[in-house]
Amino acid sequence: MVYVLVAIAIVVLALLVVAALVIPRSRRGVEAPPPPETLPAGDDAPPGGGVDTAAPPRGSPAGTAATAAPLVDVPVESTIDTADTAPALETPEPTAGRLTRLRARLARSQTTLGRGLLSVLSRDKLDDEAWDEVEEALLAADVGVGATTEIVESLRTRTRVLGTRSQGELRALLSDELVKALRPDLDRTLHSTPEGDRPAVVMVVGVNGTGKTTTCGKLARVLVADGRTVLLGAADTFRAAAADQLATWGSRVGADTVRGPEGGDPASVAFDTVKQGTERKVDTVLIDTAGRLHTKVGLMDELGKVKRVVEKQGPVDETLLVLDATTGQNGLVQARVFTEVVDITGIVLTKLDGTAKGGIVISVQRELGVPVKLIGLGEGADDLAPFEPESFVDALLGDPVP
Ligand code: GDP
Repeated sequence: MVYVLVAIAIVVLALLVVAALVIPRSRRGVEAPPPPETLPAGDDAPPGGGVDTAAPPRGSPAGTAATAAPLVDVPVESTIDTADTAPALETPEPTAGRLTRLRARLARSQTTLGRGLLSVLSRDKLDDEAWDEVEEALLAADVGVGATTEIVESLRTRTRVLGTRSQGELRALLSDELVKALRPDLDRTLHSTPEGDRPAVVMVVGVNGTGKTTTCGKLARVLVADGRTVLLGAADTFRAAAADQLATWGSRVGADTVRGPEGGDPASVAFDTVKQGTERKVDTVLIDTAGRLHTKVGLMDELGKVKRVVEKQGPVDETLLVLDATTGQNGLVQARVFTEVVDITGIVLTKLDGTAKGGIVISVQRELGVPVKLIGLGEGADDLAPFEPESFVDALLGDPVP
């Protein structure tokens, strides 16, 4: 009997020990998943406040400025990518004399236009065949028919008057004609100085792929180099990558970027940029726009609306059209569509480093009646130069003969 009681006691004791060990563990098991409110905000957060969680996370591609910014899309208001987190601010090169520094980049245009023309003109006998060659060289460099005819006629007359010609004289003659064709009288000032209590507003338009966003970034550097404060607006809301790209450019020189939700209204981003720029008292607001040439009507609606909405706060001081020099006459056809939609006040001709068709500067100005104000001579951050006809022609013709 005693043995039975002892056995029962041992069994009860064993059960109590097992229970003591197992129950707390199972309790911890129940508590394991954190309550919903302790989930990190973002990834699995329940939808709310009109935020479309089906949309891919914005700003996911790496980029200091993009990741530092608020990443939740707010459908109505734009967000700002601050430049504070940039590892180290860069000091852009001064703009004066950039074209002269970058003159070697025009090497391919130099061979076709400059050296080619000079070698024909220095022949002993300038017969019809020689003049045909001059004409061909000018046309091949995209100078355009009208300007080519004028240049050839003038050169014919002047070489006849000159009689014997030295290399130096020929270079001076050619330089004179090309500079004249580039209309040195045109006003190439970039209107980027604030007036009163509102910043100057610069809008950048053009077909995608021409170098629009890159130009905005480079231009921000040009303005910063010239001592201005800049706020960027990523009104190309159709490509998140474009906004990231712009914010990264801005962050390198301390310029913030206003951006909207992907696919959002470009006009509202442009409006917010000007509003923010005014509140922050920046000197210049630089707005990158979308350049999808889907239909002319679509483009007109979109770009026209951006401009109208911006103008509710004051005039747009400068509307720059970005053109890819390598697309030649095709680019000109596209350019004309833009001039019908908005008043273009200046042209930025990009990729002049990659083409033998440097003469496009002449035909673009002639066709569109708008001055080329800036030229792109490479992918580097400071490869955007103010356009100066004399320095440009000087670079085309190579070093003068001593
Ligand atoms: P967007 O679509 O018009 O905004 O074009 P991007 O700014 O994205 O530029 C398209 C490509 O052109 C990029 O690879 C740029 O680096 C390149 N690019 C822009 N400007 C120049 C230039 O002046 N020279 C050269 N070689 N490439 C350029």
